[in-house]
Amino acid sequence: MGQSPVSTDVALGEQGKQVGYLRAPASTNSSAWGSVLVPIAVIENGEGPTMLFVGGNHGGEYEGPVALLKLIRELQPEQVRGRVIILPALNLPAVTAGMRLSPLDNKDMNRVFPGRWNGTITEVIAHYIHEEILPLCDAVIDLHSGGASLALMPYISMHYLDDEAQRERTWQAMMAFQSPLALVMKEISGPGLLDYAVENMGKVFLCAEVGGVGMLAPATVNITEVGARNLLKHFGVIEGEPLSRERRGLSPMQLMEIPDADCYQMALSAGIYESFYELGDRVEAGQPLGQIHFVQYPLREAEVMAAKRSGMLVGRRGPGGVAVGDVVGVVAMETGD
Ligand SMILES: [Zn+2]
Repeated sequence: MGQSPVSTDVALGEQGKQVGYLRAPASTNSSAWGSVLVPIAVIENGEGPTMLFVGGNHGGEYEGPVALLKLIRELQPEQVRGRVIILPALNLPAVTAGMRLSPLDNKDMNRVFPGRWNGTITEVIAHYIHEEILPLCDAVIDLHSGGASLALMPYISMHYLDDEAQRERTWQAMMAFQSPLALVMKEISGPGLLDYAVENMGKVFLCAEVGGVGMLAPATVNITEVGARNLLKHFGVIEGEPLSRERRGLSPMQLMEIPDADCYQMALSAGIYESFYELGDRVEAGQPLGQIHFVQYPLREAEVMAAKRSGMLVGRRGPGGVAVGDVVGVVAMETGD
């Protein structure tokens, strides 16, 4: 394997708070010898677990970057036992552009793991994270939102894991996040996720999806900030007990699951999607979930889509327009136990 061209000005293993960059060379039309500077913070104090918080794995998802920028400024080494690594804008070119994919190579950071040392800029950054950062970590928390295309109920999620000990550690951590919803789920997104890279190393991985439709709202920022601090407390990296929703006068975190691809409702026609339900509504399998209108054919009846699963609508298409293959609805089911 070749040598990564990425370098950094932070020294892992050094005590204290360091804020710097991962520097990845990027030759572009506007910058011959330029680099992408991915911000990184390391806050380290004595013995303890290493936690990695990631924001901006996709651009256009704002809660993670905002919560993590605040955490970098607020967290002091004397409050920490162990090490906190924070990457508030992992796919920096995408975050800067407010786009899901990097405009430099049109790649989705969360589809290219484990990356390539001599690949495109997104692959090169992923490779460095995979080789140099992930092996140091005990737990990785990846903060997403629905971005421009999805509206999602705020949730923390984990995958179905085969290893019992890993599943239990991940489960305990998930329950500490204290968002309105917690999901155990199966993905339909294919390979290359940061999730799988971390899970394959036997570590704890959690994905938060908080917010969406290109917005940043006080409530979703708050859920992300409280959740991140709850996880730091859960792992004993900062002092205190995780702050439960009940103690804040809120309804308890609801636990549901997404066991298969039928929970994701897909558009089979292009048009304008009209959802019959709001997020959080109960839907029944076989009953109409929404319909697609065909604006250039006024006399053509709208195409009604029946829900394939009974449960709660936890996600739906953000913009009105849909193309064939777009996810228009996500239904989570009651857990078996
Ligand atoms: Zn995302």
